[in-house]
Amino acid sequence: MWSPELLGYDFGPGHPMAPARLDLTMGLVRALGLLDDDADLRVVRPEPAPDDVLELVHEPAYVAAVRAASEHGTPDPARGLGTEDDPVFRGMHEAAARIVAGSYEAAGEIAAGRTRHAVNVAGGMHHAKAGAASGFCVYNDAAVAIRRLLDDGVERVAYVDLDAHHGDGVEEAFWDDPRVLTVSVHQSGATLFPGTGHPTDLGGPGAEGTAVNVALPRRTDGARWLRAVDAVVPPVLRAFRPEVLVTQHGCDAHGEDPLSDLDVSVDAQRTATTWMHGLSHELTDGRWLALGGGGYAIARVVPLVWSAVVGEVVHRPVTAGVPLPAAWRERVAEVAGFDAPLAFGPEVEVRRWSSGYDPDDDVDRAVAATRRAVFPLLGLDAHFD
Ligand SMILES: [Zn+2]
Ligand SMILES: [Zn+2]
Repeated sequence: MWSPELLGYDFGPGHPMAPARLDLTMGLVRALGLLDDDADLRVVRPEPAPDDVLELVHEPAYVAAVRAASEHGTPDPARGLGTEDDPVFRGMHEAAARIVAGSYEAAGEIAAGRTRHAVNVAGGMHHAKAGAASGFCVYNDAAVAIRRLLDDGVERVAYVDLDAHHGDGVEEAFWDDPRVLTVSVHQSGATLFPGTGHPTDLGGPGAEGTAVNVALPRRTDGARWLRAVDAVVPPVLRAFRPEVLVTQHGCDAHGEDPLSDLDVSVDAQRTATTWMHGLSHELTDGRWLALGGGGYAIARVVPLVWSAVVGEVVHRPVTAGVPLPAAWRERVAEVAGFDAPLAFGPEVEVRRWSSGYDPDDDVDRAVAATRRAVFPLLGLDAHFD
C-alpha cells in the first residue's frame, strides 16, 4: 500500500515524525528492486478512508474534532489535538484517514483471499485511542484493520507489536475481545511513554490471556531483544492459533533512535521480521499484514528495517551483506547530512530461550515475568514451553 500522498502526514518542521522517513524508505525499497515488475505484486494507492471506516474504532465526535482541527486549525487538547506530540495541521484528517485506508483495504484483500501478504509502511499508528490522538497517532489504522478482519469473518487475529513503545491503543481496542491476541514487546512503561504495558496486564473479563506484554529494561540489545521475542511470541501465537497475523514494525528500538533507550540493531529487527513471516506461513496459511510504526532515526535505521519488511512481504528477502545502492546513499547524505551504512549487517547470533533461564539477567527476568503471568492462561507451561 503506497502513494506519495502518504507523505502528507506531516506535523511540521522539527517534529520527529518527519515524512522523509517514508520517502527515504520507499527510495531504498525501489533502489533495491523490491517493487520491480512481478505478476504477483501489486502496489495499491489508498484514498482517505470514509467516516464509517474510521468509526469502526473511533467515536464520531472524535472524527468530527479531527476534521475541525484539519479544516480550521481548531485545537482540542482534551482529545489530544494541538498538543506538543500531535500538533494540528491543515489536511490532518485526510492524511491520517489515508493511512487507515491502506491498512483497511489490505485487511479486506487478505480476508477475501486475494492476497496472502500485504504491507503498509505508513501504518502502525498504534497509540491512537477511540476518542483521542496520542503519541503522533491520529487514527488507529492497526485497530481498524483488525476490526475489518473480524467483520469479514476471521475468527481469531493475532497482533504482534515490535515498536519500542507499548501498543496501547490496539490493546485497549480489543482488551475485552477474546478473538484478538495482542502481543507487545517494548521498553518498560516504567521508563518510557506511554507508561503502560505491564506483564500483569492480561486482558479484560472473558479475554484473560489475550493481552501479552513484555516490558524490557533500558539498553536491551539486539541479541537479548531477539531472545525475548523468541521466548514469548511463537509460543503464545501457537497456543492462540490465529487465522490472520498483523504485525507492527516500529523500529524505534534501535540504539540510534532519539525516542527510546533500547539498543536493538537493524539486523536484529530484520531477523525478527523473518520470524514473523515464518510464523504466518506456519500458523495462518501466510495471511499476514505488516505495518510500519515509530522510528525516528530517519536515514540510518528506518529505511533499512522497513526495506527488510517489504522484502519479506514480496518474497525478495534482504539478507546480510546486501549492499545499499550508491545513488540512495548519496540521497541520504544530501537529505540527512550523514552517511548511510554500506550494506545490511551481519546476522545476529540468537541465544534461544530453550538454552536456559539466567536469573541474573534483567532481560531474562522481564521475559520470565511475562511467561509466568500469561502462559498458564493460554494452556502453556511457563517453564517448559
Ligand atoms: Zn511468504
Ligand atoms: Zn514507538
